[in-house]
Amino acid sequence: MDLPDYNGWKKLASELEHKTKPFIGGDYVDSASDNIYQTINPATEQVTAEISACNRDDVDMAVRYARAAFNKGTWSRMAARDRGAVLQKLAVLVHENADELALMECINVGKPIMEARMADINLASAALKWYGEAIDKLTDEIIATPDNVRASITREPMGVVGVVVPWNFPLLMACWKIAPALAAGNSVVVKPSEQTPQSILKLAELAIKAGMPDGVFNVVPGTGIDAGAALGLHNDVDCLTFTGSTTVGKKFLEYSGQSNMKSVWLECGGKNPNIVMADCPDMDKAVMNAAMNVFFNQGEICAAASRLLVEESIRDEFVARVAEIGKTRVPGDPLNPETNLGAIVDKTQFDRINGYIAKGKEEGADLVLGGDTATINDSGYYINPTIFQNVTNDMTIAREEIFGPVIAAISFKDIDEAIEIANDSPYGLAAGIWTSNINVAHRAARDIQAGAVSINSYNSIDIALPFGGYKQSGIGVDKSIHAIEKYTNMKSTWLELD
Ligand code: NAD
Repeated sequence: MDLPDYNGWKKLASELEHKTKPFIGGDYVDSASDNIYQTINPATEQVTAEISACNRDDVDMAVRYARAAFNKGTWSRMAARDRGAVLQKLAVLVHENADELALMECINVGKPIMEARMADINLASAALKWYGEAIDKLTDEIIATPDNVRASITREPMGVVGVVVPWNFPLLMACWKIAPALAAGNSVVVKPSEQTPQSILKLAELAIKAGMPDGVFNVVPGTGIDAGAALGLHNDVDCLTFTGSTTVGKKFLEYSGQSNMKSVWLECGGKNPNIVMADCPDMDKAVMNAAMNVFFNQGEICAAASRLLVEESIRDEFVARVAEIGKTRVPGDPLNPETNLGAIVDKTQFDRINGYIAKGKEEGADLVLGGDTATINDSGYYINPTIFQNVTNDMTIAREEIFGPVIAAISFKDIDEAIEIANDSPYGLAAGIWTSNINVAHRAARDIQAGAVSINSYNSIDIALPFGGYKQSGIGVDKSIHAIEKYTNMKSTWLELD
């Protein structure tokens, strides 16, 4: 693949056309609100764009267009195969515009350009393609009834789906929701994160090029408190699908109760245990995974292996080896294809992570790596890879989601204690277990309360596998064929023959 070099990316970044307006009814439109807000490149601390801060009127207009498109039926009643073809075409267009989309993620999130290009964009395109290919393979059900009856169970699109997403993998998190919702025949109104509206606005533009009818895919940039809440509270939104923090996820449950009792699906936070037993069959792989699943994307990963549980007898050596990998992640300009550690998304998140690092020290954990910040050319919100050892599971850094490059290493005596610690958390998103003992592996997989457990690997992802949380990590799943269920109503039809 022919990718730009550092200078090439810098040139493309200087020429990047920023998307600033809501996308409603098939085109960019002026916002009803005169309010704007600024997006800031966290690597340079410079303003990148001035974006419309959509208000309730904008959200209402987007929902009206979405409803009209749904009722018209061009998309909602289109043959599944044809809808699938449009999504597959959109996947191709995402590939064709991958450099531009990757730059948008790099500049707004602070993530290294190569990670944005190779992970975010490729996986977003893959999700669109997969649902595009899957949707015409589904069948409805006929029930075994008496001979004079034909009874069926069918699934129908819900109507208007509200989509509210975070900033850590902006396009990818959106595609995990948009792709199954659109494949099922719904219209969508997407509220991107304040920091990262660009790539999702561009996707809506590409959807029109792919052949999606006007009004099916709408985007309202803006703040959570205005645009996000307006979507959550809207009486004509049938379903709201959210990825973000547990605190805000709970608000969407309230919004639903305060409005039309819309279905609410939540992908929320995690404080994920990665358990390494002394009989781990491949220590090199375990060390690499323990490090990379926290230091990749600056640790801004919901499934980050942020609680590293290591069997007492190997603790010191294992943690020291993870620290060696941590030292190879060095802050750099996210536009440089050599950079492997970018900037934290914004000042608020930067301060939050530093606050947790201070708390870890205050509560008596031993800092064995990092704990400090960095700048590139005197600017940027960079935090060095950080590891705390001798952490106990009651410390704040073991209980709360940090969402930064910080590992809390906790030791345990045996698998019983490891599972007890793993489950002693309000969250239950992902987990890992490293062992040669098949019984221990299966026990951990069975007993750990998490939506995904990886054995001798970590966060092994495939679009065909569901991704969702137990406990306060969420309700419902993204990815897999099962995600489509969230965006459809189940209908029973009973027909009595003469
Ligand atoms: P956030 O909860 O602050 O914001 C998420 C979205 O909700 C944004 O679009 C935001 O504008 C909106 N929002 C914020 N306050 C709102 C309100 N009062 N009413 C309505 N909408 C509101 O999350 P974030 O900081 O953008 O992202 C980080 C969080 O996302 C972490 O907790 C992380 O674990 C979670 N996350 C989870 C998954 C998953 O699949 N489980 C994936 C990625 C991120």
